[in-house]
Amino acid sequence: MAAEPAAGAAGHVTLVGGGPGTTDLLTVAAVKALRDADVVFYDRLAPYQELPSLTSAELVDVGKKPGHHKVSQSDIEKLMVESALAGNNVVRLKGGDPYVFGRGGEEVAACVAAGVKVHVVSGVTSAISVPAAAGIPVTHREVSHMFTVVSGHAPLTEKEHQHLAGLGGTIVVLMGIGTLHQLAAGLRRAGMRPDMPMAVVERGYRPGQRTTIADLGTITSAASGCSNPAVLVIGEVVRVAEANRGHAEAAADLDRLAASLLGS
Ligand code: SAH
Repeated sequence: MAAEPAAGAAGHVTLVGGGPGTTDLLTVAAVKALRDADVVFYDRLAPYQELPSLTSAELVDVGKKPGHHKVSQSDIEKLMVESALAGNNVVRLKGGDPYVFGRGGEEVAACVAAGVKVHVVSGVTSAISVPAAAGIPVTHREVSHMFTVVSGHAPLTEKEHQHLAGLGGTIVVLMGIGTLHQLAAGLRRAGMRPDMPMAVVERGYRPGQRTTIADLGTITSAASGCSNPAVLVIGEVVRVAEANRGHAEAAADLDRLAASLLGS
């Protein structure tokens, strides 16, 4: 157990990006903040299973509570602020990066409003690292020179579909499983080619990581068994991953051939 905070001493809050779910992708600053914490409020997307080996702080799961209801955002902010005001060194551990669909800005604002010192430790966002786990580079010379990160939490508007389809770069969608059907249909209506490659990468860096590759016209049925957390990637970069995988497999075949020839 962490030591009791000294009476009267002001605590502070550190918002920590926990990366996509493996301790290997925690930053040095994240590991240090966890080690120094008295209390850690964590989400289910953060690498929470490893927390007991990284910190002796009190661990509070605010991603779920009995009955599977999430602790509301305002309750999380209240808990954090109250704990810091009581003198604790508080870490708020979030999945990926706190400022990418992580409500980090709101939590900073809550601390500032309460007069609590707060700082943010950037994390490795799933928007880039989860495609990478499937071998997909979000940019690639002569293939895509931009990437757009979109929330699929709510369906996009027709205008947004048109803008996205018009950009011609890589589209990365977080929280997109529930709206995949609307997105694929919307991009088709906006003129995107039905054979535009798409990938759904589920549970990046975790047990059961799985990549489903299809194209815009077939993804809805191909990904019907996919579930969150997953990152969607739309764009020609998906083919780069397939080509690289082909090379890797060919190289492995050559290795096996060489080994068998040398062995015989
Ligand atoms: N702040 C986070 C994103 C929070 S939104 C970040 O920067 O990564 C939550 C979404 O992130 C999930 O719905 C999913 O789309 C994505 N995500 C986070 N971790 C993931 C993982 N390990 N594998 C696949 N998707 C993940």
